[in-house]
Amino acid sequence: MGRYLRHAGLLDWDQDKLAEACVLVAGVGGLGSASSLYLAAAGVGRLRLCDPDRVELPDLNRQVLYSMSSLGKPKVEEAARRLSALNPETAVEIFEERLTAENIDRLAAECDVIVDGLDNMEGRFVLNSYSVRRAVPYVFGAVHGWEGMAALIQSPQTGCLSCLLPRVPPPPEETIPVAGFLPGTIGVLQAAQALKRLMGVEGTPPGRLLIYDGRTMTFDLVAWEKNPDCSVCGSFSERTGRHRLMK
Ligand SMILES: [Zn+2]
Repeated sequence: MGRYLRHAGLLDWDQDKLAEACVLVAGVGGLGSASSLYLAAAGVGRLRLCDPDRVELPDLNRQVLYSMSSLGKPKVEEAARRLSALNPETAVEIFEERLTAENIDRLAAECDVIVDGLDNMEGRFVLNSYSVRRAVPYVFGAVHGWEGMAALIQSPQTGCLSCLLPRVPPPPEETIPVAGFLPGTIGVLQAAQALKRLMGVEGTPPGRLLIYDGRTMTFDLVAWEKNPDCSVCGSFSERTGRHRLMK
């Protein structure tokens, strides 16, 4: 029986496109655990993982790539081992480093989609800016307490993260509590958005932010507008590949 037997005959599913695809999963914590497991299981050809952290005990309530034997080890190495054991047909490339404006071009090179598994807004805006500059689809995701959100950002067809959040919120002073199942829910939705984008499956209308309330088990899909004055995508010139405001 073939590995992808249950995908066979699924309307619009294109296994060959997934096999040819490269996806950057930026951060392999809670969100990145869930998304990368489903991306590998689905047969994405290349998964590129970046994360500077090592596995700690408080990670295990939600970071399902890891187990007790992972404690103290680099997340990217443990993630690669788990994902390769799940699907040896997926090539896993690892970078044990923090994503920055300086290394994003190297880390995201050749990637068809970027999946956001980060836990900080600074890094998300680096992903967003790259996504706008290079027109690479970016699957945003975030969790907080009992709530999570996800969106496919595909500039210039949609607005960008800066249209949604014009000001970068300051980093929290304390560790943010989060229900352990929540990054699983959001991460799987991010994987779904990435897989559909790779296969060209149109589903969700563009420019929609999904908000999930884990307590009431409700999902809201809200439209968000492109901001013509946005400092990232509003000033970006497709003709020159530069921001008008850039000196
Ligand atoms: Zn924007």
